[in-house]
Amino acid sequence: MLEQELESLATTTYQKKLADCTLQEVYVILLNYVKKQIDDKPKIERKKKLYYVSAEFLIGKMLSNHLINLGIDQQVRQILEKNGFSLAEVEEIELEPSLGNGGLGRLAACFLDSIATLDLPGDGMGLLYHFGLFEQKYENYKQCEYPNPWIQNQSWLNRSQHVYDIQFKNQTVQSRMYELDVLGYHGKKNTLRLFDLETVDESLVKEGIDFDKTAIEKNLTLFLYPDDSDEDGKKLRVYQQYFMVSSSAQYIIETLKQNHCDLRKLNEYVTIQINDTHPVMIILELIRLLHKEGIILKEAISIVSQTCAYTNHTILAEALETWPLSYFEEIVPQLVYIIEALDAIADQRSSLETTAIIDAKGNVHMAAIAIHFGYSINGVAALHTHILETEELKDFYQLYPTHFSNKTNGITFRRWLLGCNRELSTYLDKLIGEEYKNNAKYLEKLLDYQNNQDVLNQIRSIKQLKKQELVTYLKEKQNLVINENSIFDIQVKRLHEYKRQQLNVLYIIYQYLKIKGGYRPQKPLTIIFGAKAAPAYVLAKDIIHTILCLQKLIQDDLEVNPYLSVVMVENYNVTLGEKLFPAADISEQISLASKEASGTGNMKFMLNGAVTLGTDDGANIEIHDLVGDDAIYIFGKKSEEVIAHYKNEDYHAQEYYQDEMIQPLVDFIISQPMLEIGDKKSLKNLYDNLVKKDYFMTLLDVKDYIHTKDRMLQDYLDQDSWSKKMLVNIAKAGYFSSDRVIKQYNDDIWKL
Ligand SMILES: *Cc1c(COP(=O)(O)O)cnc(C)c1O
Repeated sequence: MLEQELESLATTTYQKKLADCTLQEVYVILLNYVKKQIDDKPKIERKKKLYYVSAEFLIGKMLSNHLINLGIDQQVRQILEKNGFSLAEVEEIELEPSLGNGGLGRLAACFLDSIATLDLPGDGMGLLYHFGLFEQKYENYKQCEYPNPWIQNQSWLNRSQHVYDIQFKNQTVQSRMYELDVLGYHGKKNTLRLFDLETVDESLVKEGIDFDKTAIEKNLTLFLYPDDSDEDGKKLRVYQQYFMVSSSAQYIIETLKQNHCDLRKLNEYVTIQINDTHPVMIILELIRLLHKEGIILKEAISIVSQTCAYTNHTILAEALETWPLSYFEEIVPQLVYIIEALDAIADQRSSLETTAIIDAKGNVHMAAIAIHFGYSINGVAALHTHILETEELKDFYQLYPTHFSNKTNGITFRRWLLGCNRELSTYLDKLIGEEYKNNAKYLEKLLDYQNNQDVLNQIRSIKQLKKQELVTYLKEKQNLVINENSIFDIQVKRLHEYKRQQLNVLYIIYQYLKIKGGYRPQKPLTIIFGAKAAPAYVLAKDIIHTILCLQKLIQDDLEVNPYLSVVMVENYNVTLGEKLFPAADISEQISLASKEASGTGNMKFMLNGAVTLGTDDGANIEIHDLVGDDAIYIFGKKSEEVIAHYKNEDYHAQEYYQDEMIQPLVDFIISQPMLEIGDKKSLKNLYDNLVKKDYFMTLLDVKDYIHTKDRMLQDYLDQDSWSKKMLVNIAKAGYFSSDRVIKQYNDDIWKL
């Protein structure tokens, strides 16, 4: 049946038999077949609808995901194999949409999958970036950035007829809506709506990722997060944000009017989840549009306040955006009277400066708008929400205690287990039945087998298989050589000082020096990194440089390389993640306690049987509670201590640097062998930073980290007890299904 349909598509499209098609042709045949299947699926409709507005949707490739959600992946695999193809090689043809940066964007993608799976009406709203974040390449052991084009002629994107005028002070541009279907597991569908600048001009990008930041009518949807280290870059972000929210708000109001809904009852028809501060301006824009529709300002403010909910993703100051009021005057003056009105109301509610919308310097605090003029604010893990309530946003919490809640993040098991680790999921199907696919709690059935030798052996051999697959993939794609019989210790996530890749760097140096000193580990260790650094974040790029230099140094050292190797994969993204998570033995989650709001990489590793080496931070704490002391390795100072250091300003890196164990590790960064490979300025910058500043307290935790990791590597040698840790991690990962998270959002916030 399915096979005949694919054959007939091959005949009508290419006048060939399926078996004679090229990979490209097979991909197009599957694409069109799947699109047709999705066309026939009903849309999820109810009285009230959710709009999830986000600057990022890190959705990953779609083909396998759609096949899984349609329930035809096994069948398609078999048909392809019969005709001499593998699904994996066909999927290589698809380019990964580059619409996100890291965890926040990936969360939005997991949420869309779960919203549709739970049969809730909810659309994503965002921007169609032509070149995405950027493509990372390494040249001379340094990160270089290139545009990352991904929009193909034949693709999942559908062009709609919806076009909106977006009005800026000096010009009006047009926004066109594109649509991507979001399919639930065995179910119905929602839509991801992405807005594109009609007059976007890709040829504006000349060298690398440089382009004229002032050519607004050409550049608005070229890149996600263009460099904002200068004034033009900052203003461009304001332009982009307004373009996104005005398009979204116009679409929402237009849809309501078409359905003859009373705009005064907006909150009965619509709820809007604002993902971090980037889309906060939608509050202002909706008020403006309602006011324009003849609703008095005061009422418009009240209506919108009952419609919008905000998720905070981080306590790092850099992400709590503020814009000078003068930017609004210069770019979107139509919003200024609304900002001033909201500021006056906020002043009446609280005279504290910490809760002001416009501060004494004339900066507009976007999070403050969202908290005062939304009905809900949530953090993304228990510790994070606690810190928001008691530290970062405590004055807001005093004002609106009932608006605050916690929603610990999650991940979709369709992609992060069924999709990326079919060997494990089919084994689980046989062992514990398939209920876990609809309710991930049932993964706990696996606990019944924690002392079953055969099951432990199976789980271990699946891990070994996924390690071999990763080795083959990285050899072929990136010409990287990895020993499949080593321990795979993986840290993949954006590069940021707070995530502390530099702490892992110090461990590598420690291990290198130990081996140089004659130590011979029983089992070789491969430390794998993947990380993009923001193009203007100099220290982050210097950390990448240091890692790449260490990789080279160790690779060339015959004394060391049988026991230790360092591998930094290029251009870490969802596609690579799908290969890396299933292959990991050790999951590195080593952020400075209090700084990682939740983390979701930690959950993907756990679900695939890796054991966490982590600090008491974000969702690591919840993982620890679930798996118990024996199946996780926790180290480092607790968040209270870290927060106290910041308050008392009593952390001095210099004092830790004096330690006789720590000093040689830091000094090695600028040692002769490193300088022979790398760039002195970069290496020296990291060295100086660690010795003199170390804002994220690397040296505070380095000793505990080293000892804990050594203990972990020792424990790995006991195969059975290690396999049991793997099993417990898989069994307990059910809590982190994004289906659970979305149910909580709906029960507590959206009420769809
Ligand atoms: C899950 C994921 C992230 C988030 O990882 P963290 O370790 O939580 O920061 C970032 N990038 C990609 C591609 C991911 O899949």
